[in-house]
Amino acid sequence: MKNSLIYFDNAATTRVFPEVAELMYESLLNNYGNPSSIHDVGRHARVEVERARRTVAGLLNVRPGEVFFTSGGTESNNAILWACCKDLGRKHFITSRLEHPSVLQTLLALERYMGCQVGFVKTDKKGLIDLDHLEKLLKATPAAVVSLMHANNEIGNILPVNEVAALCKQYGALFHSDTVQTVGKLEIDMQQLGVDFAVVSGHKFHGPKGVGAMYIRSGSGLEAFLQGGAQERNMRAGTENVYGIVGMARALEMSCEEMTRVRESVKEIKDFLLEKLEEEIPGISFNGDARGDSLHTILNISLPLGVDADLLLPRLDMAGICISTGSACSSGSNKPSHVLTAMGIDQKIPNLRISFSRYNTLDEAKRLVEVLKEICKK
Ligand code: PLP
Repeated sequence: MKNSLIYFDNAATTRVFPEVAELMYESLLNNYGNPSSIHDVGRHARVEVERARRTVAGLLNVRPGEVFFTSGGTESNNAILWACCKDLGRKHFITSRLEHPSVLQTLLALERYMGCQVGFVKTDKKGLIDLDHLEKLLKATPAAVVSLMHANNEIGNILPVNEVAALCKQYGALFHSDTVQTVGKLEIDMQQLGVDFAVVSGHKFHGPKGVGAMYIRSGSGLEAFLQGGAQERNMRAGTENVYGIVGMARALEMSCEEMTRVRESVKEIKDFLLEKLEEEIPGISFNGDARGDSLHTILNISLPLGVDADLLLPRLDMAGICISTGSACSSGSNKPSHVLTAMGIDQKIPNLRISFSRYNTLDEAKRLVEVLKEICKK
């Protein structure tokens, strides 16, 4: 990979911290025991997994017994939503059309296979949730499960999570929030957020791919999604991904240690682009609540009509700039974004999701402006 590449696709995944990679390599080589084995080598692996659990739990302000390691955000979302139906008998789900496919498609499966009903809360042109409509839906469907993401992975909107939690409490609903894009980027105190269930994905905060966690409030009654072993206190069968878990916990620790500084420097880049792109490219627009309560790491733009959507990503790629249109799932394809569709945004107009991390610089943002200006001229 070229060193000169500019990577603006951090909502899809982030670069692993070198220190985390080293720790994982060391763990993979030396800490090879199965945490379920009772001999010395196994016990050592168990100690590492439990230490990682305490770290993650401490950083999210939950109890270690409320953290379950998984393969990532997708599995965690699936497991929680299925378990709400299977173990708690909940049949009514309320969500929005802006959720990640791992939530939307799980809910569709619950409708198809389990006879559940899914209600969609209204959102406006900026992708903001209509809280009055949410209340109406909650009133109409007692004992529902609400699934609304903390920050949207395509447009960056941040949910008024406390207000949603209060409504859920008032109407006896359970609250699941997909926190994949916010863990490691915002201070997350699960007690303060007021959620019952939340999820973590290691590769979104400079940890490894294929490892994550779910937060399940104790006493909620959820049971295993994967069967066939007593791992994760009978909640998730399968030999633990020890070196992944160790790496993820360290990555979360490092992300939290420097959170304020990183947020300020990343926000500076986003603010610069908001201003410069508007100044330099007539007809550009920003999707979502970009200047409102929006995650500092995501900026979604629509370019002026007339820019060739098919050539946009290849041209950026040729200029050494890695960016996605829509979500990572549809990056590289011309599939329209379900999020922008739900917001009523014309997708004949080419759009880009620019997403940042601590490794980006203002000079990279300046280069992006120049390249986009050139593309829009032609
Ligand atoms: N939820 C959101 C909001 C995401 O952005 C992603 C990743 O793209 C996921 C869930 C899936 O996470 P993972 O890649 O760990 O399965």
